[in-house]
Amino acid sequence: MNITREKIHEILKGYDKKKLKIATICSHTALQIFHGARQEGIKTIGITTEGRKKVYEAFPLGCPDEFIVVDDLRSIPDRELSDENAILVPHGSVVEYSGSKLSSLRVPMLGNRESLAWEKDREKMFKWMTSAGLQVPATIDPDKIDRPCVVKLPGAKGGRGYRVVSTPEEFYEQFEGMNVTVQEYLIGVRVYPHYFYSPLSKEGYRAAEGKLELMGIDRRFESNIDEAYRTDHAGLSFSPSFTVVGNELLVVRESLLEDIMLMGKSMVETADSLFGGIPGPFCLETVCDENLQFFAFEVSARIVAGTNIYPLGSPYTAYLYEEPMSMGRRIAREIKLALRANKLQKIIF
Ligand code: ATP
Repeated sequence: MNITREKIHEILKGYDKKKLKIATICSHTALQIFHGARQEGIKTIGITTEGRKKVYEAFPLGCPDEFIVVDDLRSIPDRELSDENAILVPHGSVVEYSGSKLSSLRVPMLGNRESLAWEKDREKMFKWMTSAGLQVPATIDPDKIDRPCVVKLPGAKGGRGYRVVSTPEEFYEQFEGMNVTVQEYLIGVRVYPHYFYSPLSKEGYRAAEGKLELMGIDRRFESNIDEAYRTDHAGLSFSPSFTVVGNELLVVRESLLEDIMLMGKSMVETADSLFGGIPGPFCLETVCDENLQFFAFEVSARIVAGTNIYPLGSPYTAYLYEEPMSMGRRIAREIKLALRANKLQKIIF
């Protein structure tokens, strides 16, 4: 059964606030989250399998203060975490491993867990983006494929299994009977801005009742499309695929920042009216075309792996903070600020 916001706040009320900890699964952006919490003086708990523990111990400054060892990362020990006064920070692997269980976990979580349901369901996600006035790629009926399209499998799989098709025949050859989405292929440069929305402060770039910060931008390296020129040069033929392998830094021409900030603001304000808001980190996946128009094809309502490029801050946080500020640290900072102002219930759902 889904846990209510009231129940979470009741659990949070029972917390010993002096012993508040930050917890997450050892995966995705965990090094950054633990590192950032350490910089802000908050203790951390890493949920891990025995084998993975060594990896985190190999990075002492990104290693959690304590581990909870589990056999299967799909079962988050939520009671143990709430007994430890922990706030769970959801990242991509938490969302993927926990699935629908996420909405029933009794451990308080940073951000609005309802927003994670909106990012998981492609129809809802597009409703959110279009209600926010963002331009999006067309979704195409397989029988009417008349241009290059990306065929997407359900869920966040880091692009795994996606293929490009240009005709209904090509589609049915590969995807007959499968539950997939066919989306117009966007041509341009991929731009993935990372935002942080704080309802706690009105200083800075205003959005809803708070402020919006642009924490960084990335672009991804996907196999095999991003090194396709090598395959071409080698005289080999290949079919493009989009499995995410890593991320790289991107700084956009400064005049594009206006649109990037407006898209973020609009997503925050629409989240407010659709499902009660999106405090904390989120990211848009967009393509900027030759006319400098942005088209958004995905939103992640949580910290994204692209932020891992910036453990010591980005070319944008340099103008927001005097000290190195990663997204992981920004999360810990927000928890500290909310605690001080007695407003944890505004950012923890
Ligand atoms: P994640 O949740 O990790 O972001 P995902 O499985 O939801 O991954 P997407 O982010 O939707 O996958 O897409 C993966 C990659 O496929 C994108 O980074 C992009 O390169 C490519 N892609 C997706 N949609 C389009 C599109 N409409 N046009 C062109 N390329 C696209």
